[in-house]
Amino acid sequence: MKNKILKCTDFGVDCPAEFRGPTVDSVLEQAKKHGMEVHGQTAEQVSSDAVMQIAATKARDEDGS
Ligand SMILES: [Zn+2]
Repeated sequence: MKNKILKCTDFGVDCPAEFRGPTVDSVLEQAKKHGMEVHGQTAEQVSSDAVMQIAATKARDEDGS
C-alpha cells in the first residue's frame, strides 16, 4: 500500500520537512504537530480551512512522480 506524502513547502513554508502516512488524515496530523512545534503556529492556525484545503489537494501517493 502506498503512503500519502505531504510537504511543508505545500503550505508555502520554506522548510524541507515531509510527512508520510497511510491516509491524508495521518499526514495532516503530522503536519499540524510540526507546524505548532517547529513553526510556532497555533492550534487554530493549523486547523484552518485553508490548511485542510491544502492537505486535501496536495497530499499525493508517494513515488507517484
Ligand atoms: Zn516545516
